[in-house]
Formats: sequence, structure tokens, C-alpha cells
Amino acid sequence: MPQTNQALFERAQRVIPGGVNSPVRAFRAVGGTPRFITRAQGPFIHDAEGRRYVDYIGSWGPMILGHGHPAVLEAVQKAAADGFSFGAPTEREIELAEAIIAHLGPDSGVEQVRLVSSGTEAGMSALRLARGATGRNLIVKFEGCYHGHADALLVKAGSGLATFGFPTSAGVPDDVVKHTLVLEYNNLEQLDAAFARRGDDIACVMLEAIAGNMNFVRASVPFMTRLRELCTKHGAMLVFDEVMTGFRVGARGAWGVYAQLMPGFRPDLFVFGKVIGGGMPLAAFGGSRAVMGRLAPLGPVYQAGTLSGNPVATACGLATLREIGRPGFFEALGDSTRALVNGLKAAADAAGVPFVVDSEGGMFGFFFTDTLPQHYGTVMATDKERFNRFFHAMLDRGVYLAPALYEAGFVSAAHTPAEIEATLAAAREAFATL
Ligand SMILES: *Cc1c(COP(=O)(O)O)cnc(C)c1O
Repeated sequence: MPQTNQALFERAQRVIPGGVNSPVRAFRAVGGTPRFITRAQGPFIHDAEGRRYVDYIGSWGPMILGHGHPAVLEAVQKAAADGFSFGAPTEREIELAEAIIAHLGPDSGVEQVRLVSSGTEAGMSALRLARGATGRNLIVKFEGCYHGHADALLVKAGSGLATFGFPTSAGVPDDVVKHTLVLEYNNLEQLDAAFARRGDDIACVMLEAIAGNMNFVRASVPFMTRLRELCTKHGAMLVFDEVMTGFRVGARGAWGVYAQLMPGFRPDLFVFGKVIGGGMPLAAFGGSRAVMGRLAPLGPVYQAGTLSGNPVATACGLATLREIGRPGFFEALGDSTRALVNGLKAAADAAGVPFVVDSEGGMFGFFFTDTLPQHYGTVMATDKERFNRFFHAMLDRGVYLAPALYEAGFVSAAHTPAEIEATLAAAREAFATL
């Protein structure tokens, strides 16, 4: 008997909580049955019922080259044949660290990186490092930014949590989050007030400079400028969570975008994930040698991992970074992404549907409203019912968008004009049904 997504979902729910290993996969926000994926190639994913979709999730960002890129596949197969994991250092870890640092360039201030296995791990380690380096406890984050599910960061986080309407998660002690200050994104007044009151207690401010866990919201340049000034003045570290945006919105990530607009600007710590693993569990955090030297075994801030710098994962990441380092890569990816979002906008306009779009490099967002939201509250005030109808209308037409209105979308280098055009044809029909 042929498999169905529904049968698999029912079976999954018997042995896995909610049937999924990461909440947003469960389609709770949009309703319906999650698609169980059997394989993927280039810009397409295939489900258990044999249906093919144009993939705009790309594993939530990592698959920037599309699925099954030949050079990456070869690197992974070769590495796997040499051994899965050693628990001892390898040259490939050095190569990947060198590649990350070289991609960012000296202006980033990143001289050293530590490799870990997930964005969550990288974010919580960066946080511990910032606290260890400053000797302070208080951290600042912004509503709608997601930095992984470490206790101290699970406060009004966006994304999967917003689905369930939890202001925070059960199981997180008040004692832990009492050191976390949550401010509204792009709100200069709140920022000033927070620093005026507690500036000298703040270990770090962590943010997604282009936030992808409340769809797609950019930090304004005045906001970023003030943030840098305040952190410098008060000795707090500015931490860029580039798990999503790093090597995705441009060769130098979101930092590169702001460095263009704000000459000389740089954060104190970076957090990476997603693209740097090319689809394998790999993430990193990095900064100056002085700060990174606070980590064990050199310094007093403990951090470790059995599978950190895994040889197969680093092979995948290295091969991926090699491809995206080719001249013109991000220009072409940005062109494809803009063709997509501009086409979506035109289709919505033609159908008389209020709709706004934004994109940078291979990351995009769209909202069913009239003006681009500037923070979580305005994102959540956009038309959710319409988004959900659009999502399903597109899915029915073979286009797989992120299954929640507060998620960003991703285009890969494998998306050709043919896939973009097919997506826009589907969108013209979908908008007409709204
Ligand atoms: C995905 C994401 C994380 C968490 O990474 P995981 O690998 O899922 O643990 C952290 N920060 C941002 C900005 C992310 O998008």
C-alpha cells in the first residue's frame, strides 16, 4: 500500500511528541498534515506521496546551493569513508575556521572561531562567553528574535514559540530569565531607557540584525548605530546572531550589509550555523582572539562537545563555503530572490491583495499588510488567515513555503528562472483564490 503523509504523521505521533523533532514542522500554525519528505534534489523536495515541491525552506536556510550539490555530496561521501568521528582534532576543522574568518575578512574583527553542533549551542556558548568576559549577568534580547532554545534566551522568542502563544517556555526557572531583558526591536526609546537604567550591568545585547524568526524584519540603521554606541559606552558586548543570515544574505552576512551602511561598524561576537554546515549539524561562534581566549582550555569559560567539528559536517560546510565564495555567487542569488519577491508583489497587486515584500541575498519575507513591519507586534498584526490560505494554495500547487507567517523564506542557487516562473504562476492563481 502506498504511504500517505497522514498515515506517517499518525504513526510518528505515537512515538515522537507531536510527530516531529522540531515544533514548527508540525504545521500547527497553518493547519493540515505535514509533508513527510523522502528525498530532495536541486530546488525540489519530494514527499512520501510522490509529490514534488519547489522548496523555499531549504532546511530553514542551510541548503543555499540547493539539494545534492555534486561537489558537496562528493566531499561528504569522501569524508564519511575516512571516518565519522574521532574525538580528536582534524585539519578540516582548521580549514573551516580559516574559511569562515577569510570569508568575513579582517574588518569583522573575527580572529578565532569555536565549532559546535547547533545554532542553539553556539548561541548559548556565546552568551556564556560574553558573561564570562564581562563578569556581568544581564543580557538584552529583542522580542521576536530567536537565538535557539537555551533557557536564558527563551523569553518572548519568535518562531515556533509564537505558534503556541507561550510568552516563554515551561521548565525555565524565573531565576534564570530574571537576567534577561526583552526589548522591542527597532525601538530606540526602550533601548536608551534600558541602558540608562542598567547599562553597566549588561554583559551583552544579542540580536538578529536582519531578523528571520519574525518573518523578515531589518534593524534600522539609527537603531543599530545607537546600539553600537551604547554597548561601547557601557562595556557591553554586541552579539550578532547570524545563524540564519550568515553566508546567506551576502558573503559577509548581515554584518556585511550593515558595514556597508555604517563604515567601520562591527559587533563583538558572531554566532553562525545553518549555511556553514551546508545541511549537516554544525555551528560556530567567533570573535577577537582576546575574547575567544577566555574559553577553555585557555581561559575560565567552559565549553565543549563530543561531536564538535565533526569530520563529515566540516567537509560539508567547507565544500559549501567554497561554492558560495565563487565570484558573482551572491549577486546571482540576490537577483533570483528579487525576481521572486517582485513577482509575488506584482501578482498580489494585480489581485488587489495588500502585500509587502523584502529580501537580501538568498533570504526573503512577505507580509499580508500595507507596510513592512518594524517589530514583532506589527508582524503578528498582519493577516494570518490570509497567509494560511495562501500557504495552502501554494502547497497545493507544488510550492513549499515556510508553514508560518513569522518565518523567512530561502532561495537557493539551484532555483532557476523556470522554478521562479512556475512559482509566480502558482502565486497568480493562489492570490486569485484569496
Ligand atoms: C535557527 C536559528 C538558531 C538555532 O539554531 P539551531 O541549529 O536550530 O539550534 C539560532 N538563531 C537563529 C537566528 C536561528 O535562525
